[in-house]
Amino acid sequence: MESASRRCPVCGLVQPLKPNCRRCKADWTLVLRVVRSQERLIRLATTAIEQQDWESATARLDEAARLGHHEQIGRLHAMIALARQDFGSAWRYFRQGTPASASS
Ligand SMILES: [Zn+2]
Repeated sequence: MESASRRCPVCGLVQPLKPNCRRCKADWTLVLRVVRSQERLIRLATTAIEQQDWESATARLDEAARLGHHEQIGRLHAMIALARQDFGSAWRYFRQGTPASASS
């Protein structure tokens, strides 16, 4: 699963989430903690979207974005923009959240 891969903050290797970097053996405990926090924020944003609480959802997604890139963030921002009939922003967010390999 692509979204579960991360770049090692020490050596730059991209690998699936594990307790240590495969190449430099850096401790990924903090990386795992950040990823779990980000996934929790995305779940909260999804719940807020289901409740049509756009402000709360946007705030959670902005918080999640500060923790790093996650492809769902752009898609959920796009959903919120569509619900608000802001089609220009929806398209921009959709494109930001779409991996380059999936855009062709
Ligand atoms: Zn590394």
